Amino acid sequence: MQDAVVAVSTLDGTHKETVQQVDVAVVGAGFAGLYLLYRLRKAGFTTVTLEEADDVGGTWYWNRYPGARCDIQTIDYGFTFDPELEGAWRWSEKYATQPEILRYLGFVADRYDLRRDIRFRTKVTAAIWDQAKQRWLLATDNGASVSCRHYIMATGCLSSPKPPEIDGVKNFKGEVYFTGRWPHEEVKLAGKRVAVIGTGSSGIQSIPLIAEQAAELAVFQRTPNFALPAHNGPVPGDRKALLDNDRTGYREQARWSLAGVPYPQQTVVSWQLSDAERRERFEKAWDAGDLVYILTQLWADQAVDVDGNALLAELFRDKIRAAVKDPETAEALTPYDHPFGAKRPCLDTNYYATFNRPNVTLVNLRQEPIEAITTSGIKTGKRTFDVDVIVFATGFDAMTGAIMAVHPITGRGGKSLSEVWANGPQTYLGLTVAGFPNLFMITGPGSPSVLSNMAVSIEQHVDWVVDRLTAMREAGFATIEATEAAQAGWARHMADCSMLTLHRLANTWYTGANVPGKAQGVMPYTGGVGPYRSICNEVVDRGMLGFMLSGPSVAEQCNDGEIVRLQPDVRLVLNMLAEMKLPPIESFGFQGARDFVAQFNASRPAGRPVGEIVDGSLPGPDGALSYRLYRPATPGPHPIVVYFHGGGWVLGDEQSDDPFCRDMCRRTGMIFVSVGYRHAPEYRFPAAAEDGYAATRWIAEHTAELGGQPGPVLVAGWSAGGNIAAVTCQLARDRGGPKIAGQLLVCPVTDCRFDRPSYNDNAAGYFLTRSLMYWFWDLYCSPADRTDPRVSPLRGKLAGLPPAFVVTCEFDPLRDEGNAYAEALTAAGVPVEQLQARGHFHSSFTMVDMVITSVSGRVQMAEALRRFAGLPPQATGGDEARRGQLASHKLAAAAG
Ligand code: NAP
Repeated sequence: MQDAVVAVSTLDGTHKETVQQVDVAVVGAGFAGLYLLYRLRKAGFTTVTLEEADDVGGTWYWNRYPGARCDIQTIDYGFTFDPELEGAWRWSEKYATQPEILRYLGFVADRYDLRRDIRFRTKVTAAIWDQAKQRWLLATDNGASVSCRHYIMATGCLSSPKPPEIDGVKNFKGEVYFTGRWPHEEVKLAGKRVAVIGTGSSGIQSIPLIAEQAAELAVFQRTPNFALPAHNGPVPGDRKALLDNDRTGYREQARWSLAGVPYPQQTVVSWQLSDAERRERFEKAWDAGDLVYILTQLWADQAVDVDGNALLAELFRDKIRAAVKDPETAEALTPYDHPFGAKRPCLDTNYYATFNRPNVTLVNLRQEPIEAITTSGIKTGKRTFDVDVIVFATGFDAMTGAIMAVHPITGRGGKSLSEVWANGPQTYLGLTVAGFPNLFMITGPGSPSVLSNMAVSIEQHVDWVVDRLTAMREAGFATIEATEAAQAGWARHMADCSMLTLHRLANTWYTGANVPGKAQGVMPYTGGVGPYRSICNEVVDRGMLGFMLSGPSVAEQCNDGEIVRLQPDVRLVLNMLAEMKLPPIESFGFQGARDFVAQFNASRPAGRPVGEIVDGSLPGPDGALSYRLYRPATPGPHPIVVYFHGGGWVLGDEQSDDPFCRDMCRRTGMIFVSVGYRHAPEYRFPAAAEDGYAATRWIAEHTAELGGQPGPVLVAGWSAGGNIAAVTCQLARDRGGPKIAGQLLVCPVTDCRFDRPSYNDNAAGYFLTRSLMYWFWDLYCSPADRTDPRVSPLRGKLAGLPPAFVVTCEFDPLRDEGNAYAEALTAAGVPVEQLQARGHFHSSFTMVDMVITSVSGRVQMAEALRRFAGLPPQATGGDEARRGQLASHKLAAAAG
């Protein structure tokens, strides 16, 4: 390499030495480091890259084990920043081998003459922030130290192999190899007795090839994994045609997709498909041999819902059983302990069939754990395996290992990164850490990284960082640092996102569970590549929100704040609505608004099946009222909940809240009767209130006829329906019945006052607007009537009402009146439970299967209704029970 500016300086204050001075130092010369070097150089920064290996390649330099291949299709796995580069390189296969990927990275390094700024065989041994100079000082094990303004870790997520963690490795007299540090010279396994420990991606790729060479192979498996056949071959014609037809569009779609590969988002949910249709979709995915496809393209609920996932996992298990001849071996190879995709699935060639070979033995460590490695082999609880070679395919200290374990990093005020991260990685955007100015991580913990196509995520991070450094230079800023508040907000957002997928339900390297003693929590960002990209862009658009910037001759800037306060899926829904640029609903007129809502609801996922749905009618105060009854699939009779839909007394019907009623019917195990009360402006106050009361009375008197349990009914409602439910309880108390066992009020209208803060804070932008509420009130109720408790129940007498569960949402104009009602009920001696839902909006709980993060709230509502009805807690299936584990989720705890 050419020498950059070299000066004499003091590194630790005790001795003088040569220090290389650069604007930016980068660690690592893999995918990320190479692109960084290219972009930094182009942007005019002096740069050095420090690389431990003797050539470029990063993970593809070290992982040379037999069978090592990419498991993202090659047309998606490469640099896209230069169309000429894309034109100059042709992949030979659908999934490239490690040597071919390494050749590609060498080709890139040569094409842009990158090697001249890379110091190979050079490890950073310490990094210290010098606050006075506002520079990082890096000690190295080879040559000059480095002084740099900015320090960027391009160290990869899976580059720090785990130690073996098994007693006696040093005693073993044979050969020992690690897949993550495979020798460059040929490893001869022919005729030898080989043991492979570990059945993750590295093990699963190497085992079939090792089996072909070795005399005997023993595979030591702790946890079985799902492996999909790669069906490797030429680049698939359909994908290539898509790329060739519109390269720019294809790449752009990848950048905004969920996983960094341009596949559409599925909308069909598993319960809309028959068994045969689901199997057909699965077989197609199996034949496609594409992990991203099978992880995202079968049905919309496969990665977010335990039941939707289980359907897929079972189809997968059938394949394993069919591929492996010995039933006991097949069973041992079949995963049951994690949802499909929660642990990284693998792509294989002949993996399961390898266990049909006579020279291959599967050792199930769940039944016979390894006790020790001896001089001659491996001793389990049941037997001893004498072997010549042990291959450790035991994985990595993922995501944090390469950043914090490789060398001490000391930030402002002597803060040690290892100490700051002792309870799990804390970052802002997965890019920066509070207390560590001018330190960046490419694809760090807290970013989509390993849950995405790394090539796409690396380019996004590198572009973001280099663009920021350029903008800082132009503005005269020398330092940039995340604020503590921004970082804490990101941790909360990460914890919220972790509710979106099933990753939290498995013990994996994603959660740190593979390294003994490591803090646990989902480390990568689970909110998706596209949403993440939009957040990073928004940080910039909002004036570098969450960052402090300073410079020698400019005023310090600190734009403190939290970038995402909404729940991640609420943010997506609201962004989608904002993009539609809809006129205010009230501008459609009441009939137009009803049509709009019906059309909007038609685009929702279909509600989940329940035991039975019956439409009927009941006598109201002024003619018949329709109703829809949802009966659970469990044997009855069940208690009855009388339900009132939302819609501001103007909109909505039994259909509009159908998914919510189905969901609550399933969760409570109770009958829901959704009442079609009369609407304004055709029927103004008090029509809806009187209908609600009359319907409740009639239902309570006809429980047996409806197949319900005799005894008190319960009432529930959302929004204006919550208003009707609350009013019904007051009327029932005052008019001699019926007896009501409990009331569930979800974001209820409770009062005609519009000056509470939430009416202003959330006046616009959260779907239910202040002006829409004004419109609803005007259509339903004259100003003179508005203080009547039959429309403003907060103004009524509250003592003696049934116990209540009151739900309010942070970003809802109705938040404060809901809270006020809960407080007033409590003050009047009514037992009240409250859910104040952070980051949610008015429609969060009724947008079932669109706002996934609202599930836990509905679980709480259902449990409350069951308590009110005197039923024991519902023995809910896996997911809800496991969702409870989140209380101990470390990232969430840290956020709290
Ligand atoms: P891994 O997925 O963490 O697998 C390690 C395996 O070793 C697991 O089966 C683990 O069992 C087992 N293990 C760990 N410590 C053990 C111990 N003390 N005793 C017994 N068994 C032990 O690691 P990997 O296979 O190297 O893959 C890591 C990641 O790298 C992959 O998930 C993938 O993202 C990436 N990768 C990608 C490719 C590709 O692109 N083609 C190839 C290789 C790797 P438990 O599951 O019980 O912990």
